[in-house]
Amino acid sequence: MRASPPPLVDRAAGALMATYDRFPVTFVRGEGTRLWDDDGREYLDFAAGIAVAQIGHAHPRWVEAVASQAARLAHVSNLFSTEPQVEMAERLVALLGWGRAFFANSGAEANEAALKLVRKATGRPKVVAATGGFHGRTLATLAATGYPEKHVPFEPLPREFVHVPFGDPEELAAAVDDRTAAVLLEPVQGEGGVVPAPEGYLAAAREACDAAGALLVLDEVQTGAGRCGAWFAHQLDGVRPDVVTLAKGLAGGLPIGVCIATEETAGAFGPGDHASTFGGGPIPCAAALAVLDVIEEEGLLERARSTGERLMTSLAEAARVAIEVRGRGLLVGVELPPEIGSRDVVLAALGHGLVLTQAGRNTVRFTPALTVTEADVDAAVQAFEAALGEET
Ligand code: PLP
Repeated sequence: MRASPPPLVDRAAGALMATYDRFPVTFVRGEGTRLWDDDGREYLDFAAGIAVAQIGHAHPRWVEAVASQAARLAHVSNLFSTEPQVEMAERLVALLGWGRAFFANSGAEANEAALKLVRKATGRPKVVAATGGFHGRTLATLAATGYPEKHVPFEPLPREFVHVPFGDPEELAAAVDDRTAAVLLEPVQGEGGVVPAPEGYLAAAREACDAAGALLVLDEVQTGAGRCGAWFAHQLDGVRPDVVTLAKGLAGGLPIGVCIATEETAGAFGPGDHASTFGGGPIPCAAALAVLDVIEEEGLLERARSTGERLMTSLAEAARVAIEVRGRGLLVGVELPPEIGSRDVVLAALGHGLVLTQAGRNTVRFTPALTVTEADVDAAVQAFEAALGEET
């Protein structure tokens, strides 16, 4: 008899670099807000990747868009125009009311493009970002990321990145000067523990930029594409940035990143200033167009607001030990006291058939698909309460 192969989690540990502290579950199938593991066990997915499966797993519209585009045309490089990319750029510009797009493959790449663009557009070197902000793992986006301890092993990083406490408009204004190319902020710090910018903070950042002739860049990699109940979270604040970046949920599970800038700022890039072999390929753009269609046709912005409210209210009742329940739309975090580890709670939740993620500040993060139902929300809160009960 042939020996059966070791479990996939062990093979992963042997074959992959240890860049992730993976959970001991292997998923083999997804449909809507449900996942199934290799033992056939069903889970309610309130992670959606990490805020990526925006319209749920295997949505029929998405599957058809990806399959038919794959059968027609997968790749021709960016030396030629393709219909899905141009249409996607036009749709995003229409949703914003301004701008021109550059397509990449990830959030870090979208931010990298933004960082190069603002330096070239202004001729200035400095970028002001926030403590606790997360912008990616490339050298420049790591330099922009507001966790100094994560910088240390990779120094020297690109220079001229300055960090100010998130949410304090005076500290921000004091840091922005005539050497500042841009202020870079998330409307809600996602990886930092689901921390929404306080009311008026983005408007204050806009003012500080205008006063110094600097540009405002909003990193909507996690908050955009409907996640917070608007196409772009900054639209809820009525603030207009000069540059906005998107990725994660935009193509519903395929790699995409976009940097959109105002006409004036975008004009700084000419041929050869920036590029991507795969960025904005026909398949991810066809997938992203399907995501936008489904969000529009199924009224998912409004639904993200109402189910998000229900989720936050129920979590606040269920998790009385929590320090805070906070978020916007379907980007929700439960901050736990230090004696309860958020990873232990996420592991316990898996045991109750609920998939969650952790975020900084000892926070458990809930980012289900925007298609999530009220019944899903109620079931998730019940499973979370049970998991939390085991850890307290
Ligand atoms: N910016 C924000 C706000 C993010 O949340 C993330 C990822 O979590 C990134 C950038 C980096 O995106 P990616 O992992 O696609 O490079």
